[in-house]
Order: sequence, then structure tokens, then C-alpha cells
Amino acid sequence: MSHSPNQPILLTSSLHVDHARKAIAALVDDLIQESRAINDPADIETVALDKAIDRILAVDLLSPIDVPAADNSAMDGFAFDGQCLDTNSAVVSLSIVGTAYAGRPYEGSIGPGECLKIMTGAVMPAGCDTVIPQEFTTAINELTIQFRQDQLKAGENRRLRGEDLQKGKPAIEAGRLLRPSDFGLAASLGIASLPVKRKLKVAILSSGDELRPLDQILDPGSIYDSNRYSLTGLLNRLNLEIIDCGIVRDDPTSLKQAFIDAASRADVLISSGGVSVGEADFTKQIMQELGDVGFWKIAMRPGRPMAFGVLKPIAGKSPARKTLFFGLPGNPVAVMVTFYQFVRSALLQLNGANQTEPPLVQAIAEAPIRKKPGRTEFQRAILRRSSDGKPSVRLTGSQGAGILRSMSEANCFVILGHEQGNIAAGDWVDIALFDGLL
Ligand code: AMP
Ligand code: MG
Repeated sequence: MSHSPNQPILLTSSLHVDHARKAIAALVDDLIQESRAINDPADIETVALDKAIDRILAVDLLSPIDVPAADNSAMDGFAFDGQCLDTNSAVVSLSIVGTAYAGRPYEGSIGPGECLKIMTGAVMPAGCDTVIPQEFTTAINELTIQFRQDQLKAGENRRLRGEDLQKGKPAIEAGRLLRPSDFGLAASLGIASLPVKRKLKVAILSSGDELRPLDQILDPGSIYDSNRYSLTGLLNRLNLEIIDCGIVRDDPTSLKQAFIDAASRADVLISSGGVSVGEADFTKQIMQELGDVGFWKIAMRPGRPMAFGVLKPIAGKSPARKTLFFGLPGNPVAVMVTFYQFVRSALLQLNGANQTEPPLVQAIAEAPIRKKPGRTEFQRAILRRSSDGKPSVRLTGSQGAGILRSMSEANCFVILGHEQGNIAAGDWVDIALFDGLL
């Protein structure tokens, strides 16, 4: 399938979720190639480890040292030359010549029949390659230990130099969405800051005459604009720069001006509302002037209408980059579902992340779930552990696209695939956990 968002087939029939995802990924890939051509050094910045959470590593982090820097002991015990295990006697006796602590190596060398008391992490002394754990030994007197030979083999309980990381090899690969363990790893190499991709600038706006900001009293027929707050929360999870373009009225002039304004400042624009059948026509008209945007009917629930494409670079924008555009449906739950399903991975991909898909797990449906084949459904649910210890899942009440409570009470989506029919109680279903995601 071509990736052009305006492909005619997309306008006439419902689009499979997977096809929409592929089309989005292909277009994002084009944008990445274009921005590579621009090659702006400002796309990479260096940040201290304590500021780098959820940022994306821009280049491979090469290890400047071997880790560990020297062979060392994996146990508290006694280090000795493993060759002495080749003798015929069942029991080995060794005399203790000294002690090595982590950070305080033993300077001397160890001869035949000798051993060194050694702590975990202490450097292995010259002449030793094996450590017998303390608990396997018997003290004959203060200076002699004994142990049975069959309890270990030569070379055991020793960590080898460079076993964890080798000097010059990548310790963390470019594209890693940085997590706490990466900071520990970088620190273990003596690296205090990391080159990361700059934060994407993501503009958000809500469109609809009925929408009111939170500090206004509601007049008849109006509602509070909740979508900008869900979207802000979702984007904050990705540590991005958010440009809040507020509420825009349903009139072509204001909407066009708002899109131009967003496109002049942002890498990505996410709007909500104004793409359903009744309203899409005038949004379409504006988009024809500003860029290349497809209006999709996606075979999914919730979240059927969605617009996707690019806005042309605005005159004077530097560097001259296009703006990726997502026109999400207005329904509050549909906004979150379409963000989860399409926007999140596109944002990660656009910023160079090498892993963009959230993990799926499975759980057992506690009750039957009605499902029509021919569309992908994202039902809101609570995952828990049932009395027999297995993961089980139940839906959170009414699943209407506007019912935010179903989302707020849930801790996961149950994702029912395109071909899937009704689910019986006891069937396994796919689950995407909200934790860390939404
Ligand atoms: P639309 O996609 O504009 O037809 O909107 C679909 C439904 O979502 C309508 O009931 C809108 O009132 C509602 N809606 C649209 N935008 C928002 C928003 N920002 N916050 C809350 N509800 C909204
Ligand atoms: Mg509307």
C-alpha cells in the first residue's frame, strides 16, 4: 500500500488499524530522511544523567573502559590457583597468606598450596583464577582451610575483566529510550552526561464551538475542554516540549490561522475534534491549502474518524521542516485510544527511538465480551490476579467513546483484533497496561 495519506481507497472504505499504522510509519520515515538531509546539529543536545529520563540516546555510547576493569571475585571466599584441583585427593588444604578487600587489592602473589581470603568485588591476585565460597570451607586453624574438591571447578566464582562491557564497544545503542538502569550503566563507565535527541515540539489544540476553558462558567450546550488535559498528560509521559494552542472555534479563518501558527513552531501538531463526517469538510478544505492530509475512517472502536498527514513548511520557518499532523476525533476516550494506537509510536519513531511499540500481555476474560469482526476494539478494563493466581481482566462499565470514567477507572486496554468475534468467559485476550504508557 502506498503511504500517501490521500490515497483514494482510504476515503471510501474503512481502513484496517494495521494499515493505518503502516502508512503512518512510512510517512514518518520520509520525514526522518528529510530531516537527515537538513542535518541540523541542534537536533542533538547533551544532558546530565539526572535530566535524561525518557530522552532518546542520539549516538551509540561507546565504553571508554573494560567493565569490570580487572578480574575480580564474585563471592566472599578464598582465591587460589585452580590447577591444584587436578590432584587426586578428595580434599584440598590451603594456607591463608592474606586478605583482599573490594577497593584494596592484595599486592603479593599466591603460590602453590596457598590461598587469599577475598571479598566480593576484590581484584583477583596474581596467580589465582578460582574462588571457593566461604561456606564451602572448613577452618582447620586460623591460617588453614579445607574443602572438598568436587564442590567446584577451576575458574569458578571469578568475574572476568571486560565481561560486562568491552572498551570501544557500544554500551548503549543509539535510539534507546533512556531508563534508570541506563544511568547506572553510564555512571559505571565514568560518563556523567549523554547526547540525546532534542525534545520534539508538539503543539496541541482543541477545536469546537462548544468547548470552554476551565475557568469559565458553562453556558447552555457548552462543555469543558478536557482533551487538551488528557493529551498534555499523555505527552508529559514522553518528556516532550508541549506548545498549547488552546481552544479554536469551528470557523475556517480561526482554524487556518491556528494551524499556520502551530506549523510555524512545532514538529508535530495534534488537534482533537472537527474530523467527524459532519465537520470534516471544512477542515479538509483548509488542509488542502496547508498540506497533504488524508481523512480516514478507521475500522476501530472507539476512534473511527482521524486525519493524518503533513503540513507544508511555513514561510520563514527555520529549518524548513514539515509538521506532522494528527487530527484526532473529539470524543474524549477516542482521543486517548487513537493517541495510544497511532500517535505515541509515531512520536517515538520521529525522534529516533529504536523501540516504539508498547508490550502486549495476555489475561483471561472474567465475563463474555461482545465483539463484531471487522474492526479492532480497545475496551477499557481492570487487570488483576484471580484467586487461582492467573491474570484476569474485566471491563470497566459502559464503554461509550465519550465516557472518560471507563478510562479513568481502568488500568489496561483489552485489545480485540480485527477478525475477532465474541469472547467467552475464560478466553485469553490481549492486554496493554496503562502503567508507564498513558
Ligand atoms: P467532534 O469530533 O468534533 O464531532 O466531537 C465529538 C464529540 O466529542 C462531541 O460530543 C464533542 O463535544 C466532544 N469533544 C470534542 N472536543 C472535545 C474536547 N476538547 N473536550 C471534550 N469533549 C470534546
Ligand atoms: Mg466538533
